[in-house]
Amino acid sequence: MGKIKSVRFKLNTFEYEKPFHITGSISTKTTNIEVVVELDNGAIGYGEASPSFRVNGEKVEALFALEQTVNEMIKGINSKNYRQIFDITDKLFAFPSIKAAIQYAVLDAFSVEINTPVYQILGGAREKIETDKTISIGTLEERINDARRIFEEGFNVIKIKVGENLKEDIKALEKIYEITKGAKYIVDANMGYTPKQAITFVNEIYRMGIDINVFEQPVPAQDIEGLKFVRFNSPFPVGADESAKTKFDVMRLIKEEAVDYINIKLMKSGISDALAIVEMAKAANLHLMIGCMGESSLGINQSIHFAAGTGAFDFHDLDSSLMIKEKKFRGKYKTEIPYYFVV
Ligand SMILES: [Mg+2]
Repeated sequence: MGKIKSVRFKLNTFEYEKPFHITGSISTKTTNIEVVVELDNGAIGYGEASPSFRVNGEKVEALFALEQTVNEMIKGINSKNYRQIFDITDKLFAFPSIKAAIQYAVLDAFSVEINTPVYQILGGAREKIETDKTISIGTLEERINDARRIFEEGFNVIKIKVGENLKEDIKALEKIYEITKGAKYIVDANMGYTPKQAITFVNEIYRMGIDINVFEQPVPAQDIEGLKFVRFNSPFPVGADESAKTKFDVMRLIKEEAVDYINIKLMKSGISDALAIVEMAKAANLHLMIGCMGESSLGINQSIHFAAGTGAFDFHDLDSSLMIKEKKFRGKYKTEIPYYFVV
């Protein structure tokens, strides 16, 4: 098996098909870092970091400057000892998206060497997963049009962004439900509500006879008490996203009994913490979903192989690559909406 010869970073910018609006943020493009790991036997592995300043405090320029440091950290280590590389790169906890991309690129290179796809290295639990698609915040009309289009495209799980205007959000849910009956809903407030607003929201939705499968991050990331308050006063399962970045965050959420769901994102946790969180959630009887930042097909590939390999997720929110313009498809998977198949 080969040893790490070099790690190279490359910047790639992608435009969104249309501006992506969530609580407190509107994105028109995303700049990601492609990570290329080359082994001394010529095998090459690829990863992608999609940094989030909003969630992780990451800036792409700061991450890009780590290229030489990363080479010094893992050069010469054998790819088959990838756990050693995970342990060393866990030191990059302040830069979780680049940690994820490096860890995945090492697995990808190893996968090429042994001619075994990454999802099988990670356990081979499934070969097919279903993704949702997201309706971002907009006018009522925009939200309804998006809902209709997404449902007609064949998505059965619809993610709905809320959190900037309680009244408009309730109205939007009512209208979206009317034209997408039979769909499942994940509702994500991205920290936009107070605990009391969150309770008002779920009570109104419940009263209208609408079911929500996951109510994601209703309150600010650090308000664990608030999350717990919403969980115990909501008829719907409550999930942590921004509150659950590392395995240490999840440990606290478990101890506090604050949530029903954890939204794992490789961009928050890397492969190493994500693997730990999967087992912690199983032991604590928590449910899991997997999400994304602004990954292209190269980065979504990582989460698809992780999700298929571990088979740990009730819901897959892996739609960023479906919302950006890409010149070339880079995934080791096939898409048949709403499914992804690992290859
Ligand atoms: Mg979220």
